Amino acid sequence: MKNQPLRTTVIGSYPFPSWLEFASQNLGQFGSADVAEAQDDAVVCAIHDQTIAGLDVITDGEQTRLDFNLSFYGYLEGIELESASPRRMGPPAHDQRGKHKVVGELRAPRGLGAVDEFERLKRLAPAGPTLKASVPGPYTLSGRLAPGGKYKDRWALTEALLPLVRSELEALVRAGCREITVDEPSMSCYAHIEEPSRFVEIFNRTVESVVGKCHLSTHLCFGNYKARAIGPRRYAPMFPAFLEIKVDEIHLEMASREFAEIEMIGPIAKTKDVAVGIIDVKSYYIETPKDVADRVRLCLKHAPADRLSFAPDCGLSQTARWAAKQKLANMVAGVKIVRNELRV
Ligand SMILES: [Zn+2]
Repeated sequence: MKNQPLRTTVIGSYPFPSWLEFASQNLGQFGSADVAEAQDDAVVCAIHDQTIAGLDVITDGEQTRLDFNLSFYGYLEGIELESASPRRMGPPAHDQRGKHKVVGELRAPRGLGAVDEFERLKRLAPAGPTLKASVPGPYTLSGRLAPGGKYKDRWALTEALLPLVRSELEALVRAGCREITVDEPSMSCYAHIEEPSRFVEIFNRTVESVVGKCHLSTHLCFGNYKARAIGPRRYAPMFPAFLEIKVDEIHLEMASREFAEIEMIGPIAKTKDVAVGIIDVKSYYIETPKDVADRVRLCLKHAPADRLSFAPDCGLSQTARWAAKQKLANMVAGVKIVRNELRV
């Protein structure tokens, strides 16, 4: 179990500062030392915003995944850079992202980069907050690859990626990481058309070697690229199967769904911690501390304080930084109101 009742945490990503957005589109003009400096500076910004908000758990904000080469896919052998997306005009959404073509055996001889990210975070973060690393699970990671060669479909790609993700998790534990999230939003997005127990089996094989060696969680949202969701935004199809998932904590997106299915945190909290998304990352309405406190009290009707954590619905990468900053500060302030009431 986590070490603090009503803990405040985040999902991995945080908005890029405007200069980093510019830099990521002009990396060709940067030398390797310039890129390294920009990466450190960006992580310092993300750490700063999270620590002044007062969070119990922070991440590196995924500030260093600047382009294809620096993302997980850049670490994979056997793929070619994404082809043009099928739709290039009109409203921004996930169908404007191309897929990387699989051309050979999928391998990651240098790992997936998460260990370097964690080492950087450790070097730059102040003492105090728990440092969390996030890695996409194999099913989610397979979503941006076009099946090809010996991999005939998404399941085959998932199986090929599974040992690569597992090795990365093991390396994170060896590097001293004690808080890891395996992001599998694709599982929540497609649970309504796939067999949820198949997802659970895949997930459990991915994490089996690190279970018990860190506080392990998963993030199950309904998609947030360009702040758009995918699929019916209901958790019911995943349960009860997902009660068997081998994690210490399950994170659910609740705020943008106006707390539909909030009662589901009750059965989860019988055996696991639940991180409830109480900040809507898709909306520019800035939740007040009072809003947050009311939402925490609602959650307490369904689960005990020592099982509950609170977070935004998803990573904040698709939310403007000024809004993200205020939302985090208000989240912590709102949770604190209830902590004071309960004296926890
Ligand atoms: Zn998400």
